[in-house]
Amino acid sequence: MTKGNINVSVENIFPLIKKFLYSDHEIFLRELISNATDATLKLKHLTNIGEAKVDYGNPKIEVRIDKENKKLHIIDQGLGMTAEEVEKYINQVAFSGAEEFLDKYKDSAKDSGIIGHFGLGFYSAFMVAEKVEILTKSYRDENPAVRWICDGSPEFTLEETTDKTDRGTEIILHIAEDSTEFLEESRIRELLMKYNKFMPVPIKFGTKTETLPLPEGSAEDAVAETVEIDNIVNNPTPAWTKAPNELKDEDYKAFYHELYPMQFEEPLFNIHLNVDYPFNLTGVLFFPKLANNLNIEKDKIQLYQNQVYVTDEVKGIVPDFLMLLRGVIDSPDIPLNVSRSYLQADGAVKKISSYITKKVADKMVSLINENREDYNKKWNDIKIVIEYGMISEDKFFEKSDKFALYPTTDGKYFLWNELEEKIKPSQTDKDGNLIILYATNADEQHSYIQSAKDKGYEVILLDSPIVPHLIQKLETSKEKISFARVDADHINNLIKKDEPAISKLNETEKEALKKSVEESINDKKFTVQLEDLDSTDAPFTITQPEFMRRMKDM
Ligand code: ADP
Ligand code: MG
Repeated sequence: MTKGNINVSVENIFPLIKKFLYSDHEIFLRELISNATDATLKLKHLTNIGEAKVDYGNPKIEVRIDKENKKLHIIDQGLGMTAEEVEKYINQVAFSGAEEFLDKYKDSAKDSGIIGHFGLGFYSAFMVAEKVEILTKSYRDENPAVRWICDGSPEFTLEETTDKTDRGTEIILHIAEDSTEFLEESRIRELLMKYNKFMPVPIKFGTKTETLPLPEGSAEDAVAETVEIDNIVNNPTPAWTKAPNELKDEDYKAFYHELYPMQFEEPLFNIHLNVDYPFNLTGVLFFPKLANNLNIEKDKIQLYQNQVYVTDEVKGIVPDFLMLLRGVIDSPDIPLNVSRSYLQADGAVKKISSYITKKVADKMVSLINENREDYNKKWNDIKIVIEYGMISEDKFFEKSDKFALYPTTDGKYFLWNELEEKIKPSQTDKDGNLIILYATNADEQHSYIQSAKDKGYEVILLDSPIVPHLIQKLETSKEKISFARVDADHINNLIKKDEPAISKLNETEKEALKKSVEESINDKKFTVQLEDLDSTDAPFTITQPEFMRRMKDM
């Protein structure tokens, strides 16, 4: 028998990283800016706890294109690295300095917003660069700056340099032939807008001119002075990072438009998410005006990890019904570097999902209690989300009696128990079951609605596309109730409130009328019911079994 070690050569790793680590090459920029952010936040933390005795100042991250020399620079003013640290953190693939930092400063740094996780992000640079240089100088002054160069092979050079005198790190990517798109200003701007729009350290990309206001009392023909200022592309303190009591309604609306620049309509409600136990999660969700629209393709909920954009493919991460909402969810517990199928199976992600469902339910309760009239008015635009939630999430359904409305065809809005109270005296069958009359289309079913109302019944209007499922859910979950569409024959089971008035027709005439109507319809699926001519202007109604009515809607 022979025993031995399988020899894993590092040479094999780079092509693998390049090909398989990330499906999207463009995320290299997100990774490098995340590292620059981490380096800045680490320094901030070390100065806060007194371990670094340097002036933290107002550090920024700069992204600069050098098209002529085919280079892309990412420059930070963070804590930098000594030569030993480069050896340790960069030359060791899959060793995360971010995790080490969080371990070392466990308690004090847990809310520091450090992004890194797996120690692989840096190498994503080789997906687009044929050569990568690091110029870095540690905040610990006594060390000279160092330069590290690697062309994607396992060999690297590391030497001291005088090329860098200020603190921080500059990553220089020598962009590969097949990746020159990343030398285009428009492409880089697009990436910055996608991944870095809300990152916590200001990101400079070029400069812009700003016109200074004229001093008071200037002459009419005075020319305003202009200055070149940094073009900062991100908002480092987006709404969801602030406390709810710091924000007014306008602030939420402004944030909504910042998030979705192409949305011109105002959102109806917002829900500010803010927990730190049992996991960390912040965010703001918005209810857009939906009416009966179930097709949401663009402007979806966005998932962030410590203010870094992860994805807007949230299927399986948030419950389906919440995908109709918009906004941001941010949690350091959402892994940044992994695929969606991994995310869906992740335990933390599952907990997040049920938390959000509960939070949305709680918010609905407080909204309806705060201003019932306003809530009634908006019901039509939000009902599809609520109804979808009721049929798909049991936890949501359980609470829905407190906020789901059942509007009548004449504009009253009942909560479930209000509806029950209202119809109990008049809409029961002989076994004492409540029968809830509903219409799905006020125009088409107009005469049936009228006839039911003439008899003193309430008719509720349930017109969203998922109503058959909602009714089924309500019937199976609640006791002694059933639904009958106004044009279904179920309605005949209702106990008449008053004794019917004496018809103007005698029995023989009634039979003859019924028979002749039945013959003209000539379809056994329909029931003909003669009406009491004193209380309604329709002499008879034609109905169908309830199940036939519902089938058509399913
Ligand atoms: P991770 O960010 O998951 O820790 P990376 O591969 O992205 O892994 O980076 C590896 C390590 O290299 C970081 O943890 C950090 O210690 C170091 N590093 C990378 N970029 C910088 C930078 N701009 N400034 C200081 N240190 C950095
Ligand atoms: Mg990283």
